[in-house]
Amino acid sequence: STKRAFNFCAGPAALPTPVLEKAGLELADWHGKGLSIMEMSHRSADVVAVCDKAEQDLRDLMAIPDNYKVLFMQGGASSQFSMIPLNLMTGSGKADYIVTGQWSKKAWQEAKRYGNAVVAASTESNNFSSAPSQAELVLSPDADYVHYCPNETIGGVAFDYIPDTGDVPLVADFSSVLLAEPLDVSRFGMIYAGAQKNIGPAGLCVVIIREDLLGKAQACTPTMFDYKVCADNASMYNTPPTYSWYLAGLVFEWLKDLGGVDAIAEINHRKAKRLYDYIDNSGFYANPVAIANRSIMNVPFTLADSKLDKLFLQESEAAGLLNLAGHRSVGGMRASIYNAVPEEAVTALIDFMADFARRNG
Ligand code: PMP
Repeated sequence: STKRAFNFCAGPAALPTPVLEKAGLELADWHGKGLSIMEMSHRSADVVAVCDKAEQDLRDLMAIPDNYKVLFMQGGASSQFSMIPLNLMTGSGKADYIVTGQWSKKAWQEAKRYGNAVVAASTESNNFSSAPSQAELVLSPDADYVHYCPNETIGGVAFDYIPDTGDVPLVADFSSVLLAEPLDVSRFGMIYAGAQKNIGPAGLCVVIIREDLLGKAQACTPTMFDYKVCADNASMYNTPPTYSWYLAGLVFEWLKDLGGVDAIAEINHRKAKRLYDYIDNSGFYANPVAIANRSIMNVPFTLADSKLDKLFLQESEAAGLLNLAGHRSVGGMRASIYNAVPEEAVTALIDFMADFARRNG
């Protein structure tokens, strides 16, 4: 079968091998039609059926209530940083932002261009190494929404609770943790996630939005950025990224076959616990994040001496363990262990880390 390296990239990230193999088999001749799915009209019955099935499978996996729309949008998660205020910051014109890392900070900075985006809590002063408690959130009762990032991909910082915002809609950037563990969607006004971690290839952004939040966009909102236009046109107002959508559908099928989100969550927690336990007991590696806020998807770590970083990266790559460098803004290492990263990859990583520490400690 296919030779595959262990890929710890933060995104675009590892995809399940069976998904890639199936896509490969279907690439030039989809279901005996004599053409690729990416060469077909997005209005054709075949493509519409593939897209509808992907949506239904996601709804099943996440138990998405009927009063939520699922949108398949473009422009990555970063475009949502603008779409959210354009569509939702339209009542009082004020929104609360919880800042726990670089992504939620970017979301807040972008929102300031459109209205009164207020920081409800920030952990920047402790170098984004924890999440605030509910009691630390300074929330405005008249905010149009509260925005936060449950899993900061760069810092590896996760919330261990869902903020209680009363009647104010909660908007969450789930880019690096969607489908990693079960989630009560009804707690949210809107959930969004760039696809290139747990969903599929880049080019797609999944938006799950409560119906009553549609139709409130500012008049100047670009048509392509209006959630209601997208919802009314079943995410096909224009030509959507059909191939990415199809591949996301294959990933959803793969996850369903595996037993769904409950089953993958158990594996994810086991993978993360093994890696953190090893790091904490190694006496050579360290993770700076408060224990309660450690991400199960993105595990940053440092070496006892940062002068060894280069050697670590060279040797890990040679051992078939790819993309372990931390984000360019923070350095160090980071292992992203998304759904498609198998448990054997974590075993191989820990074995390599132990061997490297023995030789260089
Ligand atoms: N939010 C989070 C949490 C992310 O991890 C990323 C990308 N790594 C983004 C937003 C930006 O996503 P995109 O590159 O798709 O715009």
